[in-house]
Amino acid sequence: METKVRKADSEESFQEAARILQQGGLVAFPTETVYGLGGNALDEEAAKKIYAAKGRPSDNPLIVHIAKKEALSILAEYVPKRAWVLAEHFWPGPLTMILPKSKRVPYGTTGGLETVAVRMPNHPVALRLIQESGIYVAAPSANISGRPSGTMAEHVIEDFEGRIDMILDGGMVKVGIESTVLDLTEEVPVILRPGCITKEMLEEVLGEVVTDQAILPQNQDKHLPPKAPGMKYKHYAPKAELTIVTGEAGRVQQTINKLITDNLEKGLKTGVITTIENQQMYIGGVVQCIGSKEETGTIARGLYKVLREFDHLQVDCIYAESFVEDSMGEAIMNRLQKAAGYSILEV
Ligand code: AMP
Ligand code: MG
Repeated sequence: METKVRKADSEESFQEAARILQQGGLVAFPTETVYGLGGNALDEEAAKKIYAAKGRPSDNPLIVHIAKKEALSILAEYVPKRAWVLAEHFWPGPLTMILPKSKRVPYGTTGGLETVAVRMPNHPVALRLIQESGIYVAAPSANISGRPSGTMAEHVIEDFEGRIDMILDGGMVKVGIESTVLDLTEEVPVILRPGCITKEMLEEVLGEVVTDQAILPQNQDKHLPPKAPGMKYKHYAPKAELTIVTGEAGRVQQTINKLITDNLEKGLKTGVITTIENQQMYIGGVVQCIGSKEETGTIARGLYKVLREFDHLQVDCIYAESFVEDSMGEAIMNRLQKAAGYSILEV
């Protein structure tokens, strides 16, 4: 199959993309979080194509993207007041709400679940495409299952050239990590996946909110089943083995430098993930700078790009510094921990 790659800057590109979606095809497009791989959410066959293109396990449900808040009441069987309040506060934006699905949403889109995930993205290309196609767009992150999500059209081309109908190139995304997923089917709302809309921000609007215990790093050896099926899979991973090194900053640097030297002696190439502030500290490794410690947003934005770049640099192993777990840091560390398969070295 030929994959058309079009800049998202002309009426023609949007018309063509909308037509493909209406005919049951797949179009990758930018959202503010990461690129999405879109298909008609109400068409089971289109959903099947998404799973096939990504190699995604069929029990891992898709998020349905809408361009108008009111569409929530078409996709959900029942919309509680607090969902409308959240939509008012955070939509368009990186918050996905889980609600009981309406009959119109096929099980092929929800991974067999009775609930549906819905989000209104805050990106002009995504909103225009959804509006122009007149459909609800199921769109998981545009990456082959298990790989880091795509944050630039180049990443999507790398994974999907020849496998989908079209890629709309809207440049690099703003946020860089996926939306916060919030389950509203429980009495107390549950965060199933952390994102840049933090627990604190949600609590300011809703009152008490809890985090699914299964996704916390300290509970990994307890093998609790996460409530978002996707969170149980290995994810976001570069090809080389990744280890997070945590502890006092000086010790972390010393340890990583020692590992670089030991590896060099064995003829192995070591990758290092660090920040602008620390990049001079490492000698002999392939150092990739992810962003600035002063601005957590830059770290989120650079994370997947750096993880992907290591695949091209052909390193044998990668060590990452641990980044602050302040508000958005929690979401960043969640992705990094998953990418590392929870391999964490405390020094
Ligand atoms: P992705 O589309 O790749 O960003 O992944 C979507 C995430 O949302 C995955 O972790 C899914 O398991 C989760 N998700 C989607 N729909 C539901 C749902 N109905 N219930 C729980 N989690 C969901
Ligand atoms: Mg994904």
